[in-house]
Amino acid sequence: METAREAFFDTHAHLDFPPLREHLEEELAQARAVGVGAWVVPGVSSKGWPVLMATVAEIPAALAAPGMHPLAAGEWNEQTAAALALLLDDAVAVGEVGLDGNLSSPSPAAQEQAFRAQVRLAVAARRPLLIHCRKAMGRTLEILRAEGARRVGGIFHAFSGSPESAREALRMNFAIGLGGALTFTGARRGPELARSLPAEWLVLESDVPDLAPEPFRGQINRPAYLTLIAARLADLRGWSPAETAAITTANARRVLGL
Ligand SMILES: [Zn+2]
Repeated sequence: METAREAFFDTHAHLDFPPLREHLEEELAQARAVGVGAWVVPGVSSKGWPVLMATVAEIPAALAAPGMHPLAAGEWNEQTAAALALLLDDAVAVGEVGLDGNLSSPSPAAQEQAFRAQVRLAVAARRPLLIHCRKAMGRTLEILRAEGARRVGGIFHAFSGSPESAREALRMNFAIGLGGALTFTGARRGPELARSLPAEWLVLESDVPDLAPEPFRGQINRPAYLTLIAARLADLRGWSPAETAAITTANARRVLGL
């Protein structure tokens, strides 16, 4: 792939996770060399927030999106809520938050409580949301609607819903995050959405160190591999690499309010 003038924007990269954190400078130098130039680092557990914020502070083009993933929803309480509210001064978004129907624990009720509270916090602090949603699309959209999330919008990370759900997300100012799954052999729904949704709502995401694109599927995902996802999107839309970078980066900056 030729080097694009506009750098690619990775809207979902766990740069604070092992094994990336140990060789982060080298990984990011390799990513920059192939045209990846900015990263949003989402939170997972409240215990990880200090490392997340410290990691982002070390990298010029990295932005923090602290929050509580549904798998850590059991940590939500007055103290963690107050700690998160304080972190938002140095954060671009609240993430990754939502509902995960694949988890047997925390309970759906505990997940909903943490999710709803974080949506409220994001709306009050005027920060967009990074949404994690698996097998709970109807309920996720319902909570976003009820809490007025349209006012802040954000990104649906690793979107796996129907075209109807995607359009509903767009109407609430949420972009669709396209990741490694777009490149998987036999993938149908993702490529179809990437081809048919309005261009201004598509953003790129690596989800490093997970979800490596082809031909590295199943291996540790690396920041430089974002360009493989970009190449697939370029192919699906008939865009040049430069257009793909310009469009998706402009989208990411707009939905993140940069
Ligand atoms: Zn993630």
